Amino acid sequence: MTHRAIIHVDMDAFYASVEQRDNPGLRGRPVMVGGSGNRGVVAAASYEARQFGVRSAMPSARARRLCPSGVFVPARFERYRAVSRQVFEIFGDFSSRIEGLSLDEAFLDVSEWVGEKQKSLPDIGAELKRRITEATGLTASVGMAHNKLLAKIASDYDKPDGLVHIPIDQVQRFLDPLPIRRLSGIGPRTAGRLHGIGVFTVGQLRRTSLDVLSGLFGKHALELVERAAGIDEREVTTERVRRSISQETTFSDDRHDIEALVAVMAEQAEKVAQRLADRGFYARTVTIKLRSSGFSTITRSQSLGGHTRSARRILAGARELLEGWAGWRQQFAVRLIGVGVTGLSERPDESDLLE
Ligand SMILES: [Mg+2]
Repeated sequence: MTHRAIIHVDMDAFYASVEQRDNPGLRGRPVMVGGSGNRGVVAAASYEARQFGVRSAMPSARARRLCPSGVFVPARFERYRAVSRQVFEIFGDFSSRIEGLSLDEAFLDVSEWVGEKQKSLPDIGAELKRRITEATGLTASVGMAHNKLLAKIASDYDKPDGLVHIPIDQVQRFLDPLPIRRLSGIGPRTAGRLHGIGVFTVGQLRRTSLDVLSGLFGKHALELVERAAGIDEREVTTERVRRSISQETTFSDDRHDIEALVAVMAEQAEKVAQRLADRGFYARTVTIKLRSSGFSTITRSQSLGGHTRSARRILAGARELLEGWAGWRQQFAVRLIGVGVTGLSERPDESDLLE
């Protein structure tokens, strides 16, 4: 049986590194990319700034308190996109199966190179890393393994400027000592509950009985155990995956009552949440669709305030939209109603995750 060869590439402190490269006066200094105003947010922090505890998505005011000597630089997304294009062009020399996760992060399936060109995965990763630095003057962290889960853990393992390969016969030895938070999908809340039963490392999680985990996490227990064992069958998806999920219901007669509509939306939100979980996504925007008899269809959307796959949160957002729409109307007649989500992400930032 042949195994897949997957690479995860993640540029190091990407926006901040581009700024330091373009402006030598910023090198070696704590750099925060983002708005410096009272309502500004740090989009990226250089490693020098991270030593002060500054993180991306942190309010700029807080970052300034933590790191008064830091330099704020406004974001130049055009510039970052141009560098990103350069990097993705290099990816194209190594694989036709590239899954871009953001401007500076991607999975590559290089199984063909390993098979046909008889190259070893570590050699391919090293060459890819060298090419990126030659072309851009920036460093990337490169992780290699036979699946996406492990490749991503590997790229994160020795960041910045990392080059880490997890051979298939060393997965357990590699994973077991890691803190459970290193596994994608284990956020602060899940970790807290696991700590509560004395599970701190991936090895401890792997050895915890499924019964115990099912009691705590229901149907997600199996997923946790699989992750702890380094199992991940997800493909590197090149085609744009469908970026929305929705459910709608058409009534045979008009509905006039908010609570009755909310009851229908509750079922739809359940189904949407289930499909998110089945497909491994979280959503950050909720949409409702309404059709009154005799009128065209309208949609209303709003942010959920973070990424979630919780039916309760999706319903709460949908209900707000419905009430906002219905609020000023004396009466209404709804023939079709739907709940949907967009802004889908497989791996939202922990800080952005709503359970
Ligand atoms: Mg990065």
